[in-house]
Amino acid sequence: MQTVALNNGVKMPILGFGVFQVPPQETEQAVTGALTAGYRLLDTAAAYGNEEAVGRAVKNSGIPREELFITTKLWIQDAPAEENAKRAFDASLRKLGLDYVDLYLMHQPYGDVYGQWRAMESLNHEGLAKAIGVSNFYPDRLLDLVLNNEITPAVNQIEVHPFFQRAADQELMREHGIQIQSWGGFAEGKNNLFTNPLLSEIGQAHGKSVAQVVLRWLTQRGVAAIPKSVRPERMAENIDVFDFELSDAQMASIATLDTGASLFFDHREPEQVNWLAKRRVD
Ligand code: NAP
Repeated sequence: MQTVALNNGVKMPILGFGVFQVPPQETEQAVTGALTAGYRLLDTAAAYGNEEAVGRAVKNSGIPREELFITTKLWIQDAPAEENAKRAFDASLRKLGLDYVDLYLMHQPYGDVYGQWRAMESLNHEGLAKAIGVSNFYPDRLLDLVLNNEITPAVNQIEVHPFFQRAADQELMREHGIQIQSWGGFAEGKNNLFTNPLLSEIGQAHGKSVAQVVLRWLTQRGVAAIPKSVRPERMAENIDVFDFELSDAQMASIATLDTGASLFFDHREPEQVNWLAKRRVD
C-alpha cells in the first residue's frame, strides 16, 4: 500500500477503510472483511459507537499491531476540555483494546478547541497518539490553530469528493505540512455519483468502476481516502486502484465537476454549529 509521510515522520496508508454508519453489531464483520481485503488503515470515532467492534476485529485478525494504522476521533468536550479530552481518549483506547492509536483527530472544530488540542499534544508527547490532527476545519480555523499552538496538525480530515474538491484548501494545507484526508469520497452516492456520465466514461476507458476512478483521482491528487462499504466485493474493488493512472486530461475533466459547495452541510452555518455542538458522546 502506498503511504504518505505525515509532518512528524509517521507513515500513513493513502487509502484506508472507514466505519461511519456501520452499526456496532455489523462492524466486527465489516472490519474483518476489510482487513482480509488488504486494508491496513481503519478510521473510526468515539461518536460512531463502534470502537469496541473495531477493536475485536483487530484483535482477532492476528495482524501485528505495527502493520496497522488506527485512527479514532475525539468528540467535543465540555469544560474543563483538557481534562475531559484525556478521559475521552482513555475510553476510546480501552474500547479499542489498544495501547496507542496511530492518529487521533479532533472530530469537530467546536468548543474549547485549544483545551482539547493541549490534551492531544500531551497524548502525542506521551506516545499514546503517534500523530494528532483535526477534522472539519475550514482554512480560517485551521490556520488559527496552527499559528497559536506548538504542534501543527498532521492531518485535516474533511469532505472531499468530485463535487466538492477543496483544491485551494489542499494548497493551504500543503503550505503548512498538513495532510488532507477525504471523508465521504463517494459523497455517500449523492448527486448520482456512481452513475455520473463523465466518471463512467473515464472508468470505461480504463476498465474500472466509477468508485475506482474516484479513489484513483483522490489519491493521484495526494488526497488520502477512507471509503466505507459493508460489502466484501466493494471492499476489494475500492482497494484495487493502484494499477492504472488517470491522464492529465482526465484529471482536468474531473475538475469540472466541482461545485465548490458541501453536499452535506457547511460547518460554518449557525444551525449546524448549534446542532453538532450540542451533541454529547459518552
Ligand atoms: P462514502 O465512503 O463516500 O460512501 C459510502 C457509501 O458508498 C455507502 O453507501 C456504500 O454502500 C457505498 N459504496 C462503497 N463502495 C462502493 C462501490 N464500490 N460501489 C458503489 N457503492 C459503494 O461515505 P462515508 O462513509 O460518509 O465516508 C467514508 C468515511 O469517512 C466514513 O466511513 C468515516 O470513517 C469518515 N467520515 C468522517 C467524517 C468526519 O466528520 N470526520 C464524516 C463522514 C465520514 P455499502 O456500504 O452498501 O457498500
